[in-house]
Parts: sequence; C-alpha cells; structure tokens
Amino acid sequence: MCGICGVVGLRHATPIVLEGLRRLEYRGYDSAGIATLVDGRVERRRAAGKLDNLASLLEREPLAGKTGIGHTRWATHGAPTTCNAHPHGTARVAIVHNGIIENFETLRRELEAAGQVFETETDSETIALLVDYHLQQGLPPKDAALKALKRLEGAYAIAMIFADHEGLMIGACNNAPLAVGFGDDELFLGSDSLALAPLTRRIAYMENGDCVVMTPKGAEFMTFDGAPLERPVQITALTAGAIGKDGYRHYMEKELHEHPLVIGQTLQRMIDPATRKVVLPDLPFDLATVPRAVITACGSAFYAGMVGRYWLEEIARLPVDIDVASEMRYRNPPLTAGSLGLLISQSGETADTLAALRSLREKAIHILSVLNVEHSTMARESDVLLGTVAGPEISVASTKAFTAQLTVLACLTIATARARGTLDPLGEEALVAALMDLPSRTAEVFHQGPAIRQMASIVAEARDVLYLAGAACSP
Ligand code: GLU
Repeated sequence: MCGICGVVGLRHATPIVLEGLRRLEYRGYDSAGIATLVDGRVERRRAAGKLDNLASLLEREPLAGKTGIGHTRWATHGAPTTCNAHPHGTARVAIVHNGIIENFETLRRELEAAGQVFETETDSETIALLVDYHLQQGLPPKDAALKALKRLEGAYAIAMIFADHEGLMIGACNNAPLAVGFGDDELFLGSDSLALAPLTRRIAYMENGDCVVMTPKGAEFMTFDGAPLERPVQITALTAGAIGKDGYRHYMEKELHEHPLVIGQTLQRMIDPATRKVVLPDLPFDLATVPRAVITACGSAFYAGMVGRYWLEEIARLPVDIDVASEMRYRNPPLTAGSLGLLISQSGETADTLAALRSLREKAIHILSVLNVEHSTMARESDVLLGTVAGPEISVASTKAFTAQLTVLACLTIATARARGTLDPLGEEALVAALMDLPSRTAEVFHQGPAIRQMASIVAEARDVLYLAGAACSP
C-alpha cells in the first residue's frame, strides 16, 4: 500500500505535497514523484528509490505551481524505475494512481489502436492516456475523467490535474482509500488522514465509486455518472503531534512507550467503570447461540487472532477456525449461516482481509471487525466494529496496534463467555480487574528503562538495515 497526496490552493504546492508523501512513507514504496501546473503547463519530477532522491532532484530542478499531486509507488506492473514512477501523463493531464487496473491490457490495446503512445510498463498509464484521449476529443476535464473512470476495473485511488486548469483537481476511488481535506482557500487529497494531519482536521472520506471535483473553494462529490453525492466533513482526532516522534529516536521506540495509554484507552471503550463489566455495542446477533467463529486476518493481526482463538475456545467454549485471509477464499469452508466472522486489521483496508470479509458476507456470516481505523472500508462493510484506540502506527513492525487488538479480543472473549454461560460474575470480575491493571503493569515494564529503550532502538535499526538491503536487492 503506497500513497497519494495533492493540493489545490494559493501556496507553493511542492513542499506541501512532499511533506504529505513523507507522512505516507510508513506504507512502504519504491519510487516517488510530483506533478504541478506551472503557468498552466503540466510539469513532473520523478525519482526511483527513497523520497530523499526526489527531494534532491527538486532542489536541483525546483517545481513551482499551486496545484500539485504526488505519489509514492509500490510497483505492481513494471519495474521500480524512474520511467515507471508516477505521475504519468501527457501535455494535457497528469495522474497518480494507487492500486491495480485489472483491464489495463484491453484498454491499452484500444488506446494504441487509436494512436496513443505509451511510455511506461505500468497499468496506471492507461488511465492517463484514456483521460487524455477524451480531452483530445474535446471533452472538458470533468467529463473526460468521468468517461474514463467508467471504463476502469480494479482497485484504485486516483488524483488528476489538467493543463490550463489552474486550481482544479479530480479524485476518484474504488476499493482503495482516499480522503479530502478542507483548509482555508485550499483543499487537499490524501490516501489517509495521516497524510493530511498537519494540514487540516476537517476531512471527508470518499467511498467506493466516488469521484470528487476540487477547487480551492470547495469540493463536489459525485458518482461516475455525475450524480451528486453528500460526503460529510468530519473532524479527525488526529493532530500533527500524534504523528511526530515526540523526542524518541524511532517511531518503534515511541510506539512501544505508548502501550500503557493505548491499552487504557482501548479498555475505556469496552469496560463500564461503574459496573466493571465488559460492554459491547448492540449486536445484530446473539453471542450465546453463534455456532462457530472464523477468525481471518493477515500478518501480525493474524497472530493476534491466534491468541484470540485460544481465549475464545478455552474461556467461552466457542469453536473457532482461523485462516490467513489470503487463503480464506480458496479454502471455501462449509460454514453454517449465522456463524461469526471475526476480521482483524489495523488499517481496515488490508486487501486480502477485505476480500475475505466479502466472501464471508456471501455465506450469510455475521461480520464483527476489530479495526484501528474507524472510517475504513472494512468498518463500513462490517455489522459491528470493535475499535482499537491505538492511534497512528507508523513503525512497520506492529507493536501497540497488536497489543490493542489483543486487548479487544480479551474483552470480546469475556463478553462471549458471559453470554454462553461459561463465565460467572465472579470470574468476569477477576478477569476485568486483571485487564484494568494492565496499563499500570505495562508502564512499570517500560519505566524499567534503558534496556527496553536500547532493545527498541536495536530492533528499529535492524529493520532499517533490512529494508535498505531489500531495496538494494530488488530488480
Ligand atoms: N499499479 C500501479 C503501478 O505499478 C500503482 C502501484 C501503486 O499502488 O503504487 O505503477
């Protein structure tokens, strides 16, 4: 998963976009680029490798303009070279794209037959040349973009700018996240609210099949048919402070030290301090009669699920299967309708877990998701959301988000056990008391000081070294 950042406004766009891309670095990427409008012309700068390479290029060859889009790429089609780096485009349009265009070969053949000339190996360039084709036919930018969007199949978040249309940006998404940020006389587009955090807290989250037409004065949301849509502006709790390093040397070190806070906040959501009982949101199913649960997740969320399985089986006596999400669809387990699908994901956008969610939904399985991002696609598609309150996790090896997932799973186990009559009130009281003790117990561990700090630094440095080694070995 990589990133998009864009701005239309009155200020110099390049530094804003570059900083936005830096805040998306945690997602991983292999190359990066920015395009702006300079005196109405589309200008691009792109570089393979780290964002610092792009920053150095921009020092040597600055990029003016107040309308700009930027991208960090994780190559899916074509090597991670400068030529394949986004933005892609022509003299008329520049686009950035996250995701995959499944039908790009068909579109590419059609466009080549119509005389369009491709320069890259990417699927994304098809979007640029399709929009460009419609512009050449005389359509204005919005109509050209909508007409192109209707042809795209796959998962995508896209941002586009157009020559001679200062202050215009068009965004669109389908099965990939995109958010619009509202500033004063400037609007932003970003892959998530982290990218936009220091710029604005007023954010509208786009949904599958949404298109947005942005100017410095406002945003119009619409379907790909051009029918108007309402997308409410929400105030995000994220602040620039939440994504700083806060004096720590590494994000991992900072995030390890946030454990007491994160566990405490997550418990606060799930335990009523007056009764000291676990309280779940209203459920559209009965935990007492659910015949079986199937846990599905990827990576460290899967490990949290493995622990959750032991708890649910032992304490609540609920039979539980567990699958890595990427295997779930292929295993096609014979599940009884009315079973519980328990999906776990930090971002709520993990592609395989989302696909597993949808395949479970087709089998009439109730969907309960444990997620850290409450405006995510999985959150929207679940029957019930149990939120971890871990805040942004920038470090790629998960720490606090994993622990917060365990915290939620522990509370869910208690509520399930109570409903199924396998835990009496005294048993619940004892488990809740132990959970409520956790924040201070964790704080004690971290205050034991240097050894832990040193360990966190060593782990973070080892990760950086491995990352660089990986980048050096990639083609
Ligand atoms: N599929 C596109 C490419 O390979 C976009 C990849 C991405 O999401 O960065 O360029």
